[in-house]
Amino acid sequence: MPELPEVETVKRGLAKSLKNKVIKDFDCDWQKMINYPLKDYRDKILGLIVIDVERIAKMIKIKLSDNLNILIHLKMTGQLVFSQPEITEEKDCVIGGHPIIEGFNCLPNKYTHAKFIFTDNSHLFFNDVRKFGWVRLFNDQELKDQIAKLNMGAEPLRSEFTLRYLQNKLKSRPKSKIKPFLLDPKNLVGIGNIYSDEICYFAKISPERLVKSFKKNEIELIYKGIQAILKASIKEQGTTFRDYRNSSGEPGGYAKKLKVYGRNGQPCLKCKQIINKTKIAGRTSSFCPNCQK
Ligand SMILES: [Zn+2]
Repeated sequence: MPELPEVETVKRGLAKSLKNKVIKDFDCDWQKMINYPLKDYRDKILGLIVIDVERIAKMIKIKLSDNLNILIHLKMTGQLVFSQPEITEEKDCVIGGHPIIEGFNCLPNKYTHAKFIFTDNSHLFFNDVRKFGWVRLFNDQELKDQIAKLNMGAEPLRSEFTLRYLQNKLKSRPKSKIKPFLLDPKNLVGIGNIYSDEICYFAKISPERLVKSFKKNEIELIYKGIQAILKASIKEQGTTFRDYRNSSGEPGGYAKKLKVYGRNGQPCLKCKQIINKTKIAGRTSSFCPNCQK
């Protein structure tokens, strides 16, 4: 599942390509992906202009004229591909999400379940191997209501996420271990297995520590770690997913910078002790038993 840096990467790639495009046609062969019958969905969006592309937690919002919004969740295997009218080289595409399977020159393919066609004949394809992802349409008020219903915590890279916010959230969940605390979108959005492990390593804390055991300076380190790790990953276009222009299926650059995630059995880059793994709340966590206490 893509986490915040990966979805942010997809969003940035699409924002450049989609702005000001006018929707000429829409098609979808998997009704569960959309929240209106196909004909109604199409009728509502034909002729509308893409105003902007934003990220909300792990979702992508395509803001349209007429106060409408397309909200997209990639889930496990969703992928968005924007293609210029003529695809001759891979750089004519912006690909984001799950690594492409069929190749850029094979679009649409058997995994393409939704497609937007713009008046300049460029396309946006939504491909999804397992079909858990969705592409839903909401007006501004409906979108607001949907988001409110999710009762999401702060966006870790926006001003709403302050040290005080983190302190208060930790205080409200004293018996939680830090790893599941970081994974819970009601506390903070966008953090999954990869970044929760990296944040714990950064803060030198065991992923199993109880929230109530933290000292002030440790909370400050967690706060700093959340921001530093997510920012560094965005800079590298994420870990397992990226918006790429010259190769297919390549992992994001942050994969090379991971300190603990996926490194069980290998030596810690700081102290050379072997990285361990353990299961916490059903999720595998990697950590250095020496550096993290
Ligand atoms: Zn170590």
